[in-house]
Amino acid sequence: MKAADTMDLVRYENPAEGVARVVLARSEKHNSLNPELIFAIDEAFGQAMADDSVKVVILSADGRNFSAGHDIADTVEDYQRKMQDISPRKSGWSGFQEPGVHGWYASEKEGYLESARRIRNFSKPTICAVKGKCIAGALIYAWVCDIIVAADNALFSDPVVDFGVSGVEWLAHPWELGARKAKEFLFTADSWNAAEAHRLGMVNHVVPLDELEAFTLAMAAKIARKPAFALKLAKEAVNKTLDIQGQQNAIDQAFSLHHLCHQQNFRVFGYGMDTSNLPSMASAPKKAG
Ligand code: ZN
Repeated sequence: MKAADTMDLVRYENPAEGVARVVLARSEKHNSLNPELIFAIDEAFGQAMADDSVKVVILSADGRNFSAGHDIADTVEDYQRKMQDISPRKSGWSGFQEPGVHGWYASEKEGYLESARRIRNFSKPTICAVKGKCIAGALIYAWVCDIIVAADNALFSDPVVDFGVSGVEWLAHPWELGARKAKEFLFTADSWNAAEAHRLGMVNHVVPLDELEAFTLAMAAKIARKPAFALKLAKEAVNKTLDIQGQQNAIDQAFSLHHLCHQQNFRVFGYGMDTSNLPSMASAPKKAG
């Protein structure tokens, strides 16, 4: 796939001096995250990285919802084929169409885990603007940003236990919600609103929906007036503190457990998910995250 095709799925903007904005532009599919969109985001962040005049990056979305999560219209086979065709292979993994666990694990490592980690480790400050639904894989993109601003209509959920999976690929839940609330969030698969997310410290600010863009841009512009090197090192100081506490190793071990769930579902049900708890999904998609 050509870069121009993938970049149609995001818009790259410079709304203020020192600020880049990466906008998910797949609103007709509720910005569901297929490999094309994931690597368009990756490419857009690469563009912001290369531009030394950019000091802060906003991640936002067109449409009513930030994102419905990973695009489950793709079968496992579709996903692995796309990884083979379009992934930039920045994770150090390859063999995306190898049989069995090999190709599936490699594909999710490249497409879901390490692509997220690149944004988490992006040197410049990032702000995610969330409105409407932010489900499962979409949480990853909010969480890897440094600051989250939520519209008052935002709803957060990771319902993948309903699909027989232990949590989305980037299991930052205990870090974002605290261990006890993380368990409740996963066990119940409930949607939590912006006020609850704010109360738990998961989001920095809740603002009226029609003020989300202006509020986020004003914060970005304020940050962009600070010294770039100090911003980068302030970010690194906090991220390294989390690293020293074991955050990244914890996320990696949870990713392995996530794959254990995929393989259990595959052995029992013959495809990527357990739909036994989802009677409404008679024509079940073949993949869950
Ligand atoms: Zn998965």
